[in-house]
Amino acid sequence: MHSVKTMSNAGVYIHIPFCARKCPYCDFYSLAGAESTFEVYAKALIRDIQSTGSKEISVDSIYFGGGTPTLMPARLLTDICEAVKSTFDIQKDTEITVESNPFTADKNYYKELLAAGFNRISFGVQSCVDRELKTLGRLHSFDQAERSLLDVYDAGFENISCDLMMGIIGQSIDSLMFSIDKLCCLPITHISAYMLKIEKGTPYDCDEIKNRVADEDESAEMYLAAVDRLKENGFEQYEISNFCKSGMRSRHNMKYWQLVPYYGFGPSAHSFIGGKRYYYDRDIQDYINAPKKLLEDGECNALEEYIMLSLRLSDGMGVQKYKELGGDTAALETLAEKLCRHGMAVYDGKTLSLTAQGFLVSNSIIAELI
Ligand code: SF4
Repeated sequence: MHSVKTMSNAGVYIHIPFCARKCPYCDFYSLAGAESTFEVYAKALIRDIQSTGSKEISVDSIYFGGGTPTLMPARLLTDICEAVKSTFDIQKDTEITVESNPFTADKNYYKELLAAGFNRISFGVQSCVDRELKTLGRLHSFDQAERSLLDVYDAGFENISCDLMMGIIGQSIDSLMFSIDKLCCLPITHISAYMLKIEKGTPYDCDEIKNRVADEDESAEMYLAAVDRLKENGFEQYEISNFCKSGMRSRHNMKYWQLVPYYGFGPSAHSFIGGKRYYYDRDIQDYINAPKKLLEDGECNALEEYIMLSLRLSDGMGVQKYKELGGDTAALETLAEKLCRHGMAVYDGKTLSLTAQGFLVSNSIIAELI
């Protein structure tokens, strides 16, 4: 597919497209009731990994996302992980993450994963308020999520991330603060806090729901309150939607934002290799029959990508790199001065980084630069 040069610190993403039930707001490619496909899908993944990978590619992050990977037997996840390890050059301290949902697995299951080398779990809690979980169509209560998360911890996982949803129908600032405080009492190291988005073609994409979700002002208020509360609880913001205890950034996600190569496997998975983006169609049967990695249309514009991705990070955008990629420094200086005046950015002549206020309107800020 491409000429392989020695590559260091690449990432590997494995998509596991299975869920116990489809959540009505979710646009990820995943199927419910597909248990009979588990074995054959694992085999297809392993074949694809072995034919694409190489020992010349050094990897320091492997990420099993979904879907709900922990619906698959631990034995199959272990086999897939072994295939990655025997095909790529895996660094000693590689971060190996698996996404999971409450009550899909027990403590012994998580112990098996730990023994297989997995060392980070990303857990779909979403809210600590049962009424909100029900509205989201989630299968778990907060009690169950808490017990499940403690199973993960007792099994020996020390690096645990939780997803938190903002803008749920019926959620108030108070209930969001309640969820944040509850989550922060658990033994977790990382929180991804996302605003509920109505995705086209999902059951949530209807007037009844659209008329009831938080409007722009409410969303902004929730976001800023969440950023403050997470900070008070010791979670630093390192990206628009991501917060962590000191030193616990998601190594895998950082690759997306820092334009580091990653290899995706499975239907709907994306790859970024040699400056080009590839993807698989959202069709598990096609993937099982013959995986076809497709090239995304159009070349990536390096400057635009750098602006869009670096401004998502609290580390911000380096002026030197912006210049090297052909950025207009006079335009940048003018914009930076305006943003700083409105408390939306911090600028020291070397780096431009957005504040939480700036993250809220990052799309229009980015649009001014590209
Ligand atoms: S569990 Fe996650 S991936 Fe599965 S349907 Fe719900 S939101 Fe989507």
